Amino acid sequence: MKQKIIITGGTGYIGSHTAVEFIMKGFNVVLVDDLSNSEVSVLDRIQEITGTKPLFEQIDLTDNNRTKSFFNAHKDASGVINFAALKAVGESVKKPIKYYHNNINILLNVLENMENQGISNLIFSSSATVYGLPDVLPITEENQTKRPTSPYGNTKKVAEEIIEDLTKVSESLNAISLRYFNPIGAHDSLKIGEAPNGIPNNLMPFITQTAAGIRRELKIFGNDYDTPDGTAVRDYLHVVDLAKAHVLAFERLISNQSKSNFEVYNLGTGTGYSVLDVINSFEKTTGISLNYSYDKRRDGDVPQLYSNPNKAQTNLNWKALLTLDDMTLSSWKWEQNLRNGY
Ligand code: NAD
Ligand code: UDP
Repeated sequence: MKQKIIITGGTGYIGSHTAVEFIMKGFNVVLVDDLSNSEVSVLDRIQEITGTKPLFEQIDLTDNNRTKSFFNAHKDASGVINFAALKAVGESVKKPIKYYHNNINILLNVLENMENQGISNLIFSSSATVYGLPDVLPITEENQTKRPTSPYGNTKKVAEEIIEDLTKVSESLNAISLRYFNPIGAHDSLKIGEAPNGIPNNLMPFITQTAAGIRRELKIFGNDYDTPDGTAVRDYLHVVDLAKAHVLAFERLISNQSKSNFEVYNLGTGTGYSVLDVINSFEKTTGISLNYSYDKRRDGDVPQLYSNPNKAQTNLNWKALLTLDDMTLSSWKWEQNLRNGY
């Protein structure tokens, strides 16, 4: 019998790549999403990649009645991967209630229904933003979490605290929170990838849209940071490497290998790259000269954020394998495919 797994936010960028990896590993995958930031056609594209069209339900997971019926229908699931969330940092600053309402209520409804249906295993999508402005680099999981600079970021910190509180009293909940650094890139098949609505907030889609002529120029936010070239440094990792980490984390949960019922892991390569490093890699791998200029720092940005991923390597046997050049090239190929209708 195949193990069933529920993936919330499963038609989204990271969720769809993770669904592919679980299907390839023989899991029976059920996706649930309200399609507020993704398209139902992702299901056909997952089928083209894997040969299997996952079960899908379109549900707003803040609606607890519908969430309850969904969990009731899938009470045989062995666990949940909770990706569903709103993620636009800038919008969250302007509309904090929208973000707290959506991201926290999704989590509460998922936790309540997992408990009611006796589903124990949870993987939560967290973010490096929970470290705020770090005192020490590279960041290990022992670094203190701090108040993130945006309401979006704070939903991740609060969510981790809610899960941890619950694991202290729950008889069954077994959770892993994965703190992603900066996922970029697309699946090798070029059938799934990141497809932001409107003007991208993130660096990589802004680069590819500028190269595609959709945006006139990339603004580099700050070139006066205390970093080797003055631009901010992040830990970019390929979304396929990231997706694979979810399978390994889930296998740790279902085989009861966790050392405690709430574990956290950094997921990054461990190498920091500046904005200029990313642009240079993009120009090298694609042969395109990117139109960019320098602008002032973006509010809330930290100068440098990169992980020590050793804990994930030791406990999950996970290591990011794909290089920055792999990431920038696959992002560009995906952008072209996206414009050509996949
Ligand atoms: P995404 O927007 O592509 O996927 C999230 C999905 O959640 C979307 O398909 C959206 O439609 C769905 N969703 C939102 N609200 C919902 C609701 N109320 N009910 C049901 N579905 C809902 O984003 P992503 O990049 O794939 O991110 C997945 C997760 O990883 C999110 O929790 C995000 O905060 C987290 N994360 C992402 C990044 C990143 O850089 N992409 C970094 C750190 C953490
Ligand atoms: N960045 C930039 N121009 C853009 C978008 C992002 O210079 O149009 C920079 C941003 O200031 C940060 C890095 O690129 O230093 C990564 O930003 P992104 O929004 O992709 O991820 P974050 O690390 O903020 O989550």
